[in-house]
Amino acid sequence: MSKPYIGRFAPSPTGPLHAGSLVAAVASYLDARFHEGAWLVRIEDIDEGRSVPGAAEGILALLDALGMHADGEIVWQSRRKHLYAAAAERIALHTYPCGCNRREIADSRLGFAPDGAAIYPGTCRYGLAEGRGMRSLRLRVPDAGMDEVSFTDRFAGRVTQHLARDSGDFVLKRADGYWAYQLAVVVDDAEQGVTDIVRGADLLDSTPRQIFLQRVLGVPTPRYLHVPVVRNANGEKLSKQTGALAVMAGDEASAVAALLETARFLELGIEQAESLDTFWRAAIPAWGRLLRRHPGAEFS
Ligand code: GLU
Repeated sequence: MSKPYIGRFAPSPTGPLHAGSLVAAVASYLDARFHEGAWLVRIEDIDEGRSVPGAAEGILALLDALGMHADGEIVWQSRRKHLYAAAAERIALHTYPCGCNRREIADSRLGFAPDGAAIYPGTCRYGLAEGRGMRSLRLRVPDAGMDEVSFTDRFAGRVTQHLARDSGDFVLKRADGYWAYQLAVVVDDAEQGVTDIVRGADLLDSTPRQIFLQRVLGVPTPRYLHVPVVRNANGEKLSKQTGALAVMAGDEASAVAALLETARFLELGIEQAESLDTFWRAAIPAWGRLLRRHPGAEFS
């Protein structure tokens, strides 16, 4: 491969790895290996209120048991807050303090961004009202008409969002004092030189905001591939169940079984494997064949 490739898996340690995260882990690993690139692991523990003690260690041990070894040191967001602060400072002209609380924003009834955040009506855009203090820090998005962000997802194809309508000015620093995921993820991917992001489709709708933030920060936009979200028979997102929970340390058969289940979900066409080694040897070329069947294939 002529182009350097740096991929990553970036789990939030809010509990054991669920089936959807395992799919994201395997897909990002396969894409990196298929492109003969590097695969980094970053623990996204920036939301310290939601991080569960020991969860990150559990995720790292599981990746190890599955034969997925990171290239380079594991990075922890909770230890990199100075980078997020510096980035926010650098784009201070594009941000403003917001004094609104959740209820006030919801009351404006503009609806909700796909990730569940209420769309911000711009109340504090031109200054805080008398007697109001800063609660969060927001990034100004372009006005309607100039707010379109499009990209080609390597699985989903063309994706377009209108930021003014679909998210409004979004939060970089939260009312609880933590840096927002959107800022941390963009700063880290840029700082780590990530060229390719492979993750779950639940983050497809965050991508236009992240691309906009990359432009404001003046950092490159990576390529994106979002794998389908794992759902149960009722169409509900699987965030609790996990085949990976059944993986026992030192028990290769249970690790292979969890990987085969993930391969079935991804439709890799691998039904059996005797060992981790044979699984990965079959899965890497199978991933290459799978890439060619998707709308964004020309970017693979
Ligand atoms: N930390 C996020 C999660 O676990 C993933 C972030 C990303 O891949 O961009 O949902």
